[in-house]
Amino acid sequence: MVSFYRLHPLQDPEDLARRLRAAWEPLGVLGRVYVAREGINAQVSVPDNMLELFKQTVTAHSELDGVYLNCDEPLSKEYAPFSKLQIKPRKHVLADGLPRSLDWRENGAKLSPAEWHSKVEQLNKEEEGAKPILIDIRNFYESEVGLFKGAKALDTVTFRDTWDALKETLKGVSKEKEILTYCTGGIRCEKANAYIIQELGYKNVSALRGGIVNYAQYVKEKHNSSRSQFLGVNHVFDQRLGQRVGEEVLSRCINCGCSSDVQTDCANTHCPRPFARRRYIQCQECAIRQDGCCCSECADEKKAREQRDETQRRLEELQVSLRRELRSRKKSKDTAAEAAEEEEQRLAAL
Ligand SMILES: [Zn+2]
Ligand SMILES: [Zn+2]
Ligand SMILES: [Zn+2]
Repeated sequence: MVSFYRLHPLQDPEDLARRLRAAWEPLGVLGRVYVAREGINAQVSVPDNMLELFKQTVTAHSELDGVYLNCDEPLSKEYAPFSKLQIKPRKHVLADGLPRSLDWRENGAKLSPAEWHSKVEQLNKEEEGAKPILIDIRNFYESEVGLFKGAKALDTVTFRDTWDALKETLKGVSKEKEILTYCTGGIRCEKANAYIIQELGYKNVSALRGGIVNYAQYVKEKHNSSRSQFLGVNHVFDQRLGQRVGEEVLSRCINCGCSSDVQTDCANTHCPRPFARRRYIQCQECAIRQDGCCCSECADEKKAREQRDETQRRLEELQVSLRRELRSRKKSKDTAAEAAEEEEQRLAAL
């Protein structure tokens, strides 16, 4: 897996899309790539033996000048996230909901995983008033299963909520304060830090280069997970289990309260949980006991619906076979009538 992004104005996103397709299709590159006037955001899988050629194609495009390639092993051999190469022109590569765009290129400093590691280690030894502010720019369901030691979670539902949450988090904080931000791969911090600098007036702002994905790789290579400053798991979009980075389990099952970081959606299609909070933490035992539902009411409702559906299905089956039976009786009646008629004619002819 290779992911990269660049928030840098593009004159002709469609043209770039065409040229990238022409360069990558022959290499067997698969994945999802968004191009927009504001830049590019790409997540692709590249065959191992094509990686060097792929890197050359990236360097060959001036629009991708200086991008940082986040190379990451897939979570498992079976996990093949892409089946084709999609390069789509879009309005935004990262929808932000802001009324007007900022200059995304002015977004502060980037720290390497090693620099970040010692910063976070140091930060957690300092007095409350003296230490930098460490902010997790991701959504609530991401930070509830894993975050950096000492980080404040924005607790957002979507990235669009980031702006209000940042204002709230930084309310009353001196503009001289050092601000540190991180997200999964780095792109959200590009926009968040541009906002913190240009709209909120902070000067000393840095992000973790390549995000948690990059940090996780650093920890794996240089330390063991017990020294990870990231606690718990890195949430992976659309998967129940994230990538374990730290050894801790931060979250608890909503039913029995035991330690768990398995995320799930309720199996009751009419679950009353609000859409924004549809993902929750549930341990294996509770999931089995409640038939994949968030509570016993949902489990009852699911069962009742399944029974209703089953009854409906049987009823339809019965109707179909009844109609078939009637048709075949009518047919045999018709055949009998025809035979009788033939017999009559035969008798009459005698
Ligand atoms: Zn980030
Ligand atoms: Zn449980
Ligand atoms: Zn439910």
